[in-house]
Amino acid sequence: MRIISLTILFLTMVVTSMADEAAPAAQMWQAGAASVKITPEQPLHMAGYASRKEPAEGTKQDLFGKALAIQDSAGNSVVIITLDLIGVVAPLRTAVEMQVEAKYGIPPQSLLMNASHTHCGPAYARDDAQDYFDSLTRKLVNLVGDALKNCEPASLAYSSARCSVAMNRRTPTDAGFRNHPNPNGPVDHTVPVLSVRDSEGELQSVIFGYACHNTTMGFRYWLGDYAGFAQQYFESDNSGVTALFMMGCGADQNPYPRSELKYAQMHGRSLATSVEAALEYNQSKPLHQRQLSGNIRTAMGTVDLEFEPEDRPDFPYPVQVIRIGDDLMLVALGNEVVVDYSLRLKEELFRADGPAVWVAGYSNVYDGYIPSRRVLLEGGYEARSRPWKPELEKRIIGKVHALVAETVKEAVAP
Ligand SMILES: [Zn+2]
Repeated sequence: MRIISLTILFLTMVVTSMADEAAPAAQMWQAGAASVKITPEQPLHMAGYASRKEPAEGTKQDLFGKALAIQDSAGNSVVIITLDLIGVVAPLRTAVEMQVEAKYGIPPQSLLMNASHTHCGPAYARDDAQDYFDSLTRKLVNLVGDALKNCEPASLAYSSARCSVAMNRRTPTDAGFRNHPNPNGPVDHTVPVLSVRDSEGELQSVIFGYACHNTTMGFRYWLGDYAGFAQQYFESDNSGVTALFMMGCGADQNPYPRSELKYAQMHGRSLATSVEAALEYNQSKPLHQRQLSGNIRTAMGTVDLEFEPEDRPDFPYPVQVIRIGDDLMLVALGNEVVVDYSLRLKEELFRADGPAVWVAGYSNVYDGYIPSRRVLLEGGYEARSRPWKPELEKRIIGKVHALVAETVKEAVAP
């Protein structure tokens, strides 16, 4: 009798645990990821610090371009390209966008290109890097094709955790704002994660974000910095999974401590661990994995930002909004965006029954800092980059709201 009841208890536990693990997720998506090495093979100059006048001496870590393609049941697609590079310069965006649309029918508003802002990547917009630029373009176009080819039935979920590597780097002093760690300045420590599982429930890919400069190192070796290590560690700890990093609004955020390779590795480990925390590893019953369902809707446009000098032409600043179902909304902003934007937008776009809001910076164009009105008026490094008029924040936020409204109204044609 005792054996029978123990057996029943055991079977009950097995069934219960199976039910927990196989929490039914709607298989309404197709998703595929791909990855390509983009480490320069030629001795190119390095991007990020003007002080490094000589080309790179070698490679400490390979650089990658990665793509995640997602299709909904109506045939709408979105492709996200992430890059271990300083930024997405306009000519690269234009070249890739045109070919991706011509070859695969993905419209520009459904292509998001984001760079990690590693300061140990090539200065690929220089004239002497034309060969690299051309080969990078070819690789990225093929990469999108590979991600689309790899698409298979999938479930998607959004979750998040926190990671405290980033520190505000604007310290007020009597002589103005200094570029120095400020433990009291604003930060965005959220680690947003979009996870892709196959029809068996196996993790296939993750894309995770963080708002912090990839500037642990400034030496003359190719390196993805903390974001490179976070991707590398997550992929080696989760065999067969493609991990993509999407840079957030980290223009006034640095990883500290800096300047030793071990810190880039430690920061990467912290971030990779936070991604596992977001995925609720070793929890028998995950409670925070928000399953995505619905259609893909995308919108993109530019807003003209004005400069103080009257004769300087306006800057056409790109803003992109991507809804992945009714549960996740990505806002992708161009250039180097300070953290005020993600904090403000997440608050303004929050609805109790609305989608999770994820704000990325360093997307689709790379041409100077985007301070908030506050940072611009305070002054300091991020404010000096370009002579913007203080209305830039109002204009950008206004454009985001307009595009968000656009994606509520209509779905994109397949
Ligand atoms: Zn920067």
